[in-house]
Amino acid sequence: MTSIRFKALDTVQKRENIVVKTPSNRISDFYAANVFDKAKMKQYLSKDAFIAVEESINNGKTIDRSASDQIASAMKTWAIEKGATHYTHWFQPLTGTTAEKHDSFFEPSSDGRALEKFSGDALVQQEPDASSFPNGGIRNTFEARGYTAWDPSSPAFIMENGSGSTLCIPTVFVSYTGEALDYKAPLLKALHTLDKASVEVCQYFDKNITKVNASLGIEQEYFLVDLALYNARPDLMLTGRTLFGHMSAKGQQLEDHYFGSIPDRVLAFMVELETEAIKLGIPLKTRHNEVAPSQFECAPIYEEINLAIDHNQLLMDLMDKVARRHGFKVLLHEKPYAGVNGSGKHNNWSLITDTGKNLLAPGKTPKNNLMFLTFFVNTIKAVSEHADLLRASIASINNDHRLGANEAPPAIISIFLGSQLDEVLNEIETSKINKKMDTSNAMWLGIPKIPQILLDNTDRNRTSPFAFTGNKFEFRAVGSSANSSAPMTVLNTIMADQLIAFKKEVDGLINKGEKKDVAILTVIKKYIKDSKAIRFEGNGYSLEWEKEAAKRGLSNIKTTPKSLDAYVSKKTTDLFLRNQIFNEVEIHARHEIMLENYMKKLQIESRTIGELAMSNIIPAAVQYMNILLENVKGLKEIGIPKTQYEAQMDLIKSISEHMSIIKKSVDQMTEERKKANTIADSRKLAIGYDEKVKPFFETIRYSVDKLELIVGDQYWPLPKFRELLFLK
Ligand code: ADP
Ligand code: MG
Repeated sequence: MTSIRFKALDTVQKRENIVVKTPSNRISDFYAANVFDKAKMKQYLSKDAFIAVEESINNGKTIDRSASDQIASAMKTWAIEKGATHYTHWFQPLTGTTAEKHDSFFEPSSDGRALEKFSGDALVQQEPDASSFPNGGIRNTFEARGYTAWDPSSPAFIMENGSGSTLCIPTVFVSYTGEALDYKAPLLKALHTLDKASVEVCQYFDKNITKVNASLGIEQEYFLVDLALYNARPDLMLTGRTLFGHMSAKGQQLEDHYFGSIPDRVLAFMVELETEAIKLGIPLKTRHNEVAPSQFECAPIYEEINLAIDHNQLLMDLMDKVARRHGFKVLLHEKPYAGVNGSGKHNNWSLITDTGKNLLAPGKTPKNNLMFLTFFVNTIKAVSEHADLLRASIASINNDHRLGANEAPPAIISIFLGSQLDEVLNEIETSKINKKMDTSNAMWLGIPKIPQILLDNTDRNRTSPFAFTGNKFEFRAVGSSANSSAPMTVLNTIMADQLIAFKKEVDGLINKGEKKDVAILTVIKKYIKDSKAIRFEGNGYSLEWEKEAAKRGLSNIKTTPKSLDAYVSKKTTDLFLRNQIFNEVEIHARHEIMLENYMKKLQIESRTIGELAMSNIIPAAVQYMNILLENVKGLKEIGIPKTQYEAQMDLIKSISEHMSIIKKSVDQMTEERKKANTIADSRKLAIGYDEKVKPFFETIRYSVDKLELIVGDQYWPLPKFRELLFLK
């Protein structure tokens, strides 16, 4: 009988290239074709209804009943014209994926016939059962019901499927008592708070600014693996990563994959992905090979954060669907293969005003640069104040494998500025404020000259978790499978909170009679001093940095359960409460969900390891050992001297030893799991799993991977790394 591994290899050999046809060579011909965007609203809506939506998007004004009825009806007309039969509220529960519950437009009418209907009520609100989603105990204290509510700031879109299309309406998801049960609701609150706080600070410099949007460009890294090979690896299927596997002789050491030529099969996948993304208004722009074999990246043009995150969630969903059509599986796991790079999701973040100014781009004049420095230094101060919370916001069992694995930033949060800006800040910190000079002078107030175009000449530091890259910050520690809302809610909240504090301090000085610009620079100077420890220009992957960071008092919490403490600390609770992002119930619910998620995933990994080791690996080892035993027996029978079959005897001995380690460790691990499962407190339970169960993973893997090198290739049941990583 051919093993599933060899059948899979055979399938890969036989795959044919798929040719993808795009609707047109000009992307503008089909960009956002499946989005009910402003242009379509204008076409399908009455003038009043259109204004109502605009007001809601721009100023958060509620849309009244009659307008929502009109909008629903227009959406329905458009969607049915595009072939949609169903509609759904589309939301982002704390599972990490997106959720949909489809309802048909069809409704029977009283005269026994049928109508296509979609009312304003159905557009605005739906009621999925909240108790089936992670809710961190909110269901115990409150009602189980939850509802989804329309988010007009993210346009409705149509998800096409060969068997029927669906109108999707982006929504928030909250419990009946109003607690957020999703990623979007707190993000919208944080963005609103940041908008207000930023505008107030902008008013010091430019009275025309009335709105500030945070923008986000998400670089998405991922691996592709052939679907047949994936299906032959139960560990990949169940946990998203390989739990066993000896590194192949060739890995990424030749550095020949990054930006290399894209294999045909992969390119076909990318083209189809881009086509589908473009139809949904996701402005995908960049595609390339990443560092590890079979690793790739795509990136859209940046957008307003809420939209950028909806688009990224949608993109991950599309990737999975499109990949299947090409016989691939997309691996979004942060570390699918030990021994090669993992995947991240770089979050490029900046603040953009309604006058079109990027607040993180240095300006032409010193006056403009004071504005730039204000937002720049406040960001640094915010990150420095809440580094632990920012670390917690990217914590997950998957990302633990990546952070600090010599390829991704460590679990230490630090900021890289580039030598030019680093020097500028040092200069401001040490020089005296010059209160007399007039504003036309470059050294006005004592602000050193800032080169205008930093974009191309800022140094790149790939080892920093939070790097300034010319006109934006790049939060590089975010994991590839994460919903960016978690870190972005935190980043925007701490920034808002920081700007509010800044304004208070500056106003305080002004009230004491200080000139505005002098007051601003005085506070900036103080912040530069206060947040010095977080700035690091060197190699974030180095051991010296770990030591240096410890000296500076920066935390380096390597695993998720403990890093999550920062979510529930007094400092964080106060921060969230004062900015009205979460109430206490929500904070604790989220903390609970994250701990539970960590433990459950570790539990699944542990069970998978146990099962695979016992039912796949050991049988293969025994089979091969029997062949060796037969061989030795035969040689002995015909009188060959022992010295001539010592190699076989050694192999038999090694196999037995490894098998015995595996068996013993699996038993012990199972015992530890049982013990851990009796712990009631979720934090202690997660830590128990981390400290008592997880250490067996390494021991078992070590022996399994050794066996992989010994056991005859034809007996090995799991596709090997060379096959997973190099077959195209
Ligand atoms: P990299 O060198 O890191 O690949 P890119 O210039 O390609 O940098 O940008 C990466 C991402 O950053 C893209 O999604 C891009 O649209 C986004 N980006 C560029 N400028 C901004 C900005 N001002 N705010 C947010 N994102 C931005
Ligand atoms: Mg980048």
